[in-house]
Amino acid sequence: MRTAGRHFLQIPGPSPVPDRILRAIDMPVIDHRGPGFADLGHRVLQGIKRIFKTTQPVIIYPSSGTGAWEAALVNTMSPGDKLLMVETGHFASLWQALALKLGLQPELIETDWRRGADPALIEASLRADSKHEIKAVCVVHNETSTGSTSRIAAVRKAIDSAGHPALLLVDTISGLASADFRFDEWGVDVAVSGSQKGLMLPPGLSFNAVSEKAIEASSSAGLANSYWQWSDMIEANARGYFPYTPSTNLLFGLAEAIDMLEEEGLDNVFARHIRHAAATRTAVEAWGLEVQCQVAEEFSPVLTAVRVPDGSDADQLRAAILAHCDTSLGNGLSKIAGKVFRIGHLGDFNDVTLAGTLAAVEMGLHHAEVPHQTGGVQAALEYLKTTRDAKAKVA
Ligand SMILES: *Cc1c(COP(=O)(O)O)cnc(C)c1O
Repeated sequence: MRTAGRHFLQIPGPSPVPDRILRAIDMPVIDHRGPGFADLGHRVLQGIKRIFKTTQPVIIYPSSGTGAWEAALVNTMSPGDKLLMVETGHFASLWQALALKLGLQPELIETDWRRGADPALIEASLRADSKHEIKAVCVVHNETSTGSTSRIAAVRKAIDSAGHPALLLVDTISGLASADFRFDEWGVDVAVSGSQKGLMLPPGLSFNAVSEKAIEASSSAGLANSYWQWSDMIEANARGYFPYTPSTNLLFGLAEAIDMLEEEGLDNVFARHIRHAAATRTAVEAWGLEVQCQVAEEFSPVLTAVRVPDGSDADQLRAAILAHCDTSLGNGLSKIAGKVFRIGHLGDFNDVTLAGTLAAVEMGLHHAEVPHQTGGVQAALEYLKTTRDAKAKVA
């Protein structure tokens, strides 16, 4: 049976692709080695640097974000190298699993999955590593499984105060273009990202922004790599080309996405996300439910993970919301499966999309008989009304 109206894709990535980007992608494929291609190549390669806030090279792969995770490690590490990783949630643990498969030795700082990475614990681990065996610190900027952000500038400070030479590798797959991110200013060495979250594109592109120190490390790193090799990319990119076939049509979309982000202004984009996250938490509180993240300064602007009361099943709730309201929400992953659902409020998103999404949740709570108070939508609307013209503060 046909479902009328637009499907609400409110998972925290892939995020809905705006019509402007769909139109930009809907073009005949061009010759990626032809004379006209370099204009597109230079445009996206320069433009994406402004989104990462860097003057360093940004490598664009035709892959999902996981590929760029692998690229960050195989370009900089040698077999058996030690890493310091912080298990902020499911995505951090997947990156750790990938590192193990590559033959690296991750040392793990565990958390309760309800906060970002603790810079003080990172500093203590690095100070204890007096022989400087740890080659990289790996942190997830926006942990999409829990709705917690890590304070990357503070992590950089922790590494510097420990006087430790480790590289700083940051997964900002769901952070970039939704949450403030400053590659150069924060002293990140490799930033990993993807197309399908804040950049509003379909899945299929991933990114490595690379510092000079990371490029230097790549010249002596011992892990085998070929497809992911930065040097081949950097060489071809200098002329506006790629060493192998890029995702041409997604690059058309990327050029459009960069235009859209710059027309709105990155600071306005970040403020919009912060405000929608705050409105969402207002609704959650009015429902009498609990937000997964427990540290106010680490609340994610990208998504909100909400805990259901004991005795309720978050996946049954999500199924009811999909069946009755044609709205997809994110599921709880691994050890919080069934206990949380995730509301994505990222990308091409406005007050009315948020109101619709929260209305779907409130109706679903009723249909799935999850104990709650009504009035969450109303509370969020009040928040949105009273903050309409306020410039939310960008952290
Ligand atoms: C989505 C996501 C990933 C995985 O990206 P894929 O494109 O699915 O490979 C990794 N880390 C974070 C933080 C994410 O949000």
